Amino acid sequence: MADLPPRATKQLKSVALKSGATVCGIADATAFDAHAPEKHRPGDLLPGARSVVVVGGAQPREGDWAATSPWVMQTMGTTERIQGVGRRLAQYIESEFGYYALYVPPGTASGDTPFLSLMLAAQLAGLGSKSLAGPVLNRDHGFMYWSAVITTAPFEADGVETTPACPAPACREMWDRERTTPCLATCPGSNGGCLSGKLENGRAVRTFYDAARCNTRVHTHWVGGFQKVLEETLNEPDREKRKMLLYGDFFTRSHHLLLHEHRAVLRVHARLPRRPRAQGDEITMKPPAPTAGHPRFAPASRAPLQ
Ligand code: SF4
Repeated sequence: MADLPPRATKQLKSVALKSGATVCGIADATAFDAHAPEKHRPGDLLPGARSVVVVGGAQPREGDWAATSPWVMQTMGTTERIQGVGRRLAQYIESEFGYYALYVPPGTASGDTPFLSLMLAAQLAGLGSKSLAGPVLNRDHGFMYWSAVITTAPFEADGVETTPACPAPACREMWDRERTTPCLATCPGSNGGCLSGKLENGRAVRTFYDAARCNTRVHTHWVGGFQKVLEETLNEPDREKRKMLLYGDFFTRSHHLLLHEHRAVLRVHARLPRRPRAQGDEITMKPPAPTAGHPRFAPASRAPLQ
């Protein structure tokens, strides 16, 4: 088995940033074993997995937050920007280094459990830590979207973050003053919301989270919304009402979102500092090495991936 070049990890991270990622980190594939359920670990998805490359970025733009139309906000997509970076890195790892690389797509095999938890991957790759509101927050950039690539390449792993971004200093001040934080005040579990918690010794402690309720509010137009209207339509005996359900704007938008893998971006994190960053930088890559290519498509004379 050929070793990775000495600067391979640096080189990969540099390509990730040039491709539009705001941050890039590496997790050891075996680090998931202690946290992820069976069938949802890197080695379950790619035999011989040794590293997980995680990229973060694609935060909503300033213009997104200033948009006045809820329909625009519900229809816009942001996650696909960072997914494009993940796909590029998978291709780059195979063509440049000759190891298997599996881009982890969004979605689930069944229920709500993702193929591989991207939030866990981001934490293990040292890119952030879980917040009181739920999402993993990066210390410099706050809320981000994530993408991951599982690979058999032994890249150098990063250590997990030791100082969490949450609670932010402003949240600690607010807690001292009002016994609440922006996320708790926005979605209080005691008043029809999904979240309760407190700060203890400067650390956030979540005491309640209504996942089912939160899901129905966040994923209003995605798979669940589509299925719900479809079921109602099939059960609706009145022809005119069936047409209203199918051709109405809710079903149309849900369908549009499914086609484009978009998700609503309305989040309680609207009050966190945001730093938009250009995502359009073009990747500068060397042409594929002579040994490049997936074995299934590679001519017999090419070396197989490792
Ligand atoms: S608003 Fe403050 S306390 Fe709440 S998740 Fe964000 S950083 Fe943490």
